[in-house]
Amino acid sequence: MKKLKIGLDFDGVFSDTGRLKSETAKKLYRVDIPPERFKKELLLADGLITEKQYRTLQRIIYEMVGIGLTMEPVEGVQEFIPKLLEEGHEVIIVTSRDGKGAEIAKRWIKKHSIPWLLFIEVGQRNDKSKHLKGFDIFIDDDLDKLEPAVGIVPHLFLFSWGYNKHVDETEFITRINSWKEFYEIISKIARTSK
Ligand SMILES: [Mg+2]
Repeated sequence: MKKLKIGLDFDGVFSDTGRLKSETAKKLYRVDIPPERFKKELLLADGLITEKQYRTLQRIIYEMVGIGLTMEPVEGVQEFIPKLLEEGHEVIIVTSRDGKGAEIAKRWIKKHSIPWLLFIEVGQRNDKSKHLKGFDIFIDDDLDKLEPAVGIVPHLFLFSWGYNKHVDETEFITRINSWKEFYEIISKIARTSK
């Protein structure tokens, strides 16, 4: 079995950030926006909050410890991360978070008893693909972060959520519906690659 180098986005792969955004928007702006609409282009099309309000909301979610730490884990993440590590794969978080946001993510990982993982903190508007050379697998819930990695990472996956249902993944990117499905695909890649 081949040992693989696996890159994982943090928000929307480890933590259910969509749900926290939805709950926080209700408290802050008294608007009812379901998690599956929490993508900037969908929100602006709906007109329920302004771009400025969305930016404020993002700052709160990502940079305020008291709020950020309340994110729920994505189902299966606590079960399958240890399995991948036991099998000898290299598992690295590749996140747009940096500074305070990355610190919160690290605390969150500890809080949920997920084994310590290496973090690559890319920064908000930066290209993740520059950091993905040599990786066998990368998964993200944002298609924009995956597309530049086509041709760099051989196996690319989009973690599927209501808020990314409207995007068309390319033939080079596979949509994944759960951690269980992701784990099974990784196992198959490990068995079949040299
Ligand atoms: Mg994400």
